[in-house]
Amino acid sequence: MTRRVLDVQGIGMTSQRTRNRLVEYLRDQGICHTDVLAVISKVPRHLFVDEALASRSYENTALPIGHGQTISQPYIVARMTELLLEGENPLAKVLEVGTGSGYQAAVLASLVKEVFTVERIEPLYKATRALLHDLGYRNIRTFLSDGSWGLIKEAPFDAIIATAAPETVPPALLEQLAIGGRLVIPTGRQGQHQVLQVITRQNETEYSTVNHESVQFVPFVTAQ
Ligand code: SAH
Repeated sequence: MTRRVLDVQGIGMTSQRTRNRLVEYLRDQGICHTDVLAVISKVPRHLFVDEALASRSYENTALPIGHGQTISQPYIVARMTELLLEGENPLAKVLEVGTGSGYQAAVLASLVKEVFTVERIEPLYKATRALLHDLGYRNIRTFLSDGSWGLIKEAPFDAIIATAAPETVPPALLEQLAIGGRLVIPTGRQGQHQVLQVITRQNETEYSTVNHESVQFVPFVTAQ
């Protein structure tokens, strides 16, 4: 497989200046976690999309990544990351369902100790695994599997983030949260109202849910 040369610095529309403008925009939109903004100013989002779309990679839009999937818009990535980090303790183990382009995983990698990310589409899994390796991310572990089942062999997780929307929350994700851990997940039907939820595990059996903004995500394909 030939791989494109990775222009990490970027030029013109993909440069540091463009990333700084995106960060200013996110701040105006209410993102206030300084660590999250700092990471977004560093991660080269233009390398996570097809070269033909690179010049649009620092706009606040979702972009196609093939196989009918999209890289989420930067605002949503920032917002979900902020919600994930809101708890009291630093996060050691985080599970992401829906690796896609790998951008969300790359953002998380600088903020938590270890990222486990699962993807169900094999070509996406392979391409992203190679990209993350080439970019030098050593604390992201990628898996080809169905995230409806979570990732039992690595559970429990301090936090779980789903970047695709199921109609209802898969029970495995709740079960694989550590006590005090949080799940950030969009839920709802395709083309209908979807809401970003944060579900915190209070103890063995109890969970609390807070609903945040309306969102629009690609489907979380469930096993049933
Ligand atoms: N976090 C990604 C977003 C990609 S879109 C990024 O930053 O680019 C959501 C991804 O979730 C898609 O790649 C889709 O294939 C994947 N997905 C959907 N349902 C899934 C499931 N049950 N298990 C694993 N991945 C799933």
